Amino acid sequence: MSSLTREDMLRELELLPAWRLREAAVVPVEAAPAEKPVQDRAPIAGLGWAELKQAVAVCEACSLAKTRTQTVFGVGDEHAEWLFVGEAPGAEEDKRGEPFVGQAGQLLDNMLAAIQLKRGENVYIANVLKCRPPQNRDPHGEEVVKCDPFLKRQVELIQPKLIVALGKFAAQSLLESDQSISALRSKLHDYHGVPVIVTYHPAYLLRNMPDKSKAWEDLCFARATMKQLQSGIMTASQKLP
Ligand code: URA
Repeated sequence: MSSLTREDMLRELELLPAWRLREAAVVPVEAAPAEKPVQDRAPIAGLGWAELKQAVAVCEACSLAKTRTQTVFGVGDEHAEWLFVGEAPGAEEDKRGEPFVGQAGQLLDNMLAAIQLKRGENVYIANVLKCRPPQNRDPHGEEVVKCDPFLKRQVELIQPKLIVALGKFAAQSLLESDQSISALRSKLHDYHGVPVIVTYHPAYLLRNMPDKSKAWEDLCFARATMKQLQSGIMTASQKLP
């Protein structure tokens, strides 16, 4: 055990003034969220892969930590040009610790194959949330806020040329938008300087087969965009209208 007091530790982390401010805030005790304080979240921005994986594995920043079996960090080539981002782990992913390993994952693998891609080869797969929401409920806004620094750091470390957002939830979270998926498709967006293309979630496509043709259009758009990015015809900074 460290002999540092909490005050010593906060001073070391240069967080003491912020801590004092929080305590001084006029917030009723009941209203103060049982959240991890700032000092646990701030350092994420500078972490390397090993530390980031460890930070995710032990994260208790939201209540999903209480119900998960394990965190689901992400998988693939850590220098991939392609980053596919889904919503959150489901039951199978929670059990196995890897994203998209259930039925939707099989369809995702087929979607990748359709554009000559393969899981793990120049492809990284991650989710907005690293923990499974119980009963596969929709993620809550505060869970996204707590988890976003992890994805942001993954993007910084991977430095993908292109992000493909899978489904409405991933698209709306990454793009901080409330637009429908049909409004967001077929356009190039931006996530912290990385081009983003939006398509349907594989789980949605399993239930709505006719929209597979639209997903195919999106994948072709993504492939053409990647070719331009690879050839230098298009650079990340000139992608937006
Ligand atoms: N759905 C997702 O969005 N992510 C997974 O990892 C699995 C299913």
